[in-house]
Amino acid sequence: MKDLPGEWKDHQLTVALRIRPLNDAEIEEGATTVAHKIDNQMVVLMDPCEDADNVLRANRSREKTYMFDVAFDYAATQEDVYVATTKNLIDGVIAGYNATVFAYGPTGAGKTYTMLGLDSEPGIYIRTLNDLFTAIEDSTEDLNCSVYMSYIEIYNEMIRDLLNPSSGYLELREDAKGEIRIAGITEFSTCNAKEIMALLTKGNKLRTQESTAANKTSSRSHAILQVAVKQKSRVKDINEEVRVGKLFMVDLAGTERASQTQNRGKRMKEGAHINRSLLALANCINALSEKGGKGAQFVNYRDSKLTRLLKDALGGNSRTVMITHISPASSNFEESRNTLVYADKAKNIRNKVKRNLMNVSYHLAQYTSIISDLRSEIDRL
Ligand code: ADP
Ligand code: MG
Repeated sequence: MKDLPGEWKDHQLTVALRIRPLNDAEIEEGATTVAHKIDNQMVVLMDPCEDADNVLRANRSREKTYMFDVAFDYAATQEDVYVATTKNLIDGVIAGYNATVFAYGPTGAGKTYTMLGLDSEPGIYIRTLNDLFTAIEDSTEDLNCSVYMSYIEIYNEMIRDLLNPSSGYLELREDAKGEIRIAGITEFSTCNAKEIMALLTKGNKLRTQESTAANKTSSRSHAILQVAVKQKSRVKDINEEVRVGKLFMVDLAGTERASQTQNRGKRMKEGAHINRSLLALANCINALSEKGGKGAQFVNYRDSKLTRLLKDALGGNSRTVMITHISPASSNFEESRNTLVYADKAKNIRNKVKRNLMNVSYHLAQYTSIISDLRSEIDRL
């Protein structure tokens, strides 16, 4: 008997926290470390205070601890982060489940480092794709498999195709099943991880990056890498099966507030747009995290492109992991505290997941039962 579609299972959002190492600028300005990992799940944020020499020190009496599914600090490698957050989603995607991994946090906290990484220290994108291709190759199931990849950015509430920037701005459409699609998006089909890394690096260079006071090379856009694994039975018969698992990997723009980046003019407008998406995301996280306790809370996904695209990831049909990023420095205390508060709320989000599976014999059985019901109704007339 084949697995049937439509079996919904509960899934709680996984929330990870990564504290990056102190950087040179932070050391130079005399910042101290106020965010520490205590164990594999617990972190502490200490409230910094200035001493007599105006040097920032951590105030241990005003500290707050937070628990996450997993916590990383400066000692964590890219491999550690990948294995603990994303690696175990791969088998699910091949089996037809949706999954989302998104990097959240202020500018400069390490989101792009975690997702894209460096050539010498590749991040989650490439590690995931490598393992995905290996798993498909090693699969003993008799299925034809194709992998499609697309890479977009949302900048000022406009969608650009990072694999084909000349295509102009793309629009979101809702299909007959109520699923959100990006009209005209490039879907690149490949099973070669090296080729993909080249495409990603090229696409990433096209991302809209302009300097702000907060970070010279900050990325002001949200980038979304989508990988769809479509599988079909080789034999066309009554047991023919079609499976589709979608994996979203999202590198969000910085969550810091506009005032902190001292943005003016164009930057200010851009900040407002980024905030529109991030505000909508924060509103969704708020509504979803309260839903469990208070019953029907309205979740407004329609407010921004980002939340429309991440609808399944938050409260829908997706196994979702949020990797939250903070700097350890005393000078970033406020930002870190705001970020931790949201990450803490996101832990309450519950999704319902099922395999995206279409099975000819299953559908035939459904139709046969409908036909027999109709027959008996006609007989009764
Ligand atoms: P974000 O995408 O959140 O704005 P980045 O990923 O661009 O931040 O990180 C800012 C800088 O810090 C980059 O130069 C990056 O290489 C470095 N960095 C971030 N996280 C780490 C880390 N865990 N280990 C070493 N360097 C890091
Ligand atoms: Mg970035």
